[in-house]
Amino acid sequence: MSAEPTIFGKIVSGEIPVEVLAETERVLAFPDIAPQAPIHILIIPKETQYRDVTELAAGDPELLAEMVAVAKQLATDKANGDYRLVFNNGATAGQTVFHVHAHLLSGGLEEQSLI
Ligand code: 5GP
Repeated sequence: MSAEPTIFGKIVSGEIPVEVLAETERVLAFPDIAPQAPIHILIIPKETQYRDVTELAAGDPELLAEMVAVAKQLATDKANGDYRLVFNNGATAGQTVFHVHAHLLSGGLEEQSLI
């Protein structure tokens, strides 16, 4: 029995459309629906089995590195190349979607919220 797809699984499958900001064979980046910074982009693996960054780092560190490379490229394209990456891991740490994702925050530290 397969688990119910998360909202990000539905984005990967195309069921929920998004503005694609960057894409590789294994990684997708799109704007957060509720931005907390001038630039607030979600970077996710297309694979759905990793719930959080702990699982991803243990299971596929190259895929994690690819997400970081996509983050750096977006921060360079859209700002001055500096950026924050936030991974919420676990419900009590603020994670609401259990498909690993990085929040890329950039474009003015004073305008960013702690997410
Ligand atoms: P978390 O709280 O799990 O770290 O982050 C989940 C993020 O997903 C939140 O910042 C939330 O705004 C974003 N989000 C939730 N649903 C959607 C959606 O349907 N589309 C987009 N683009 N972002 C979403």
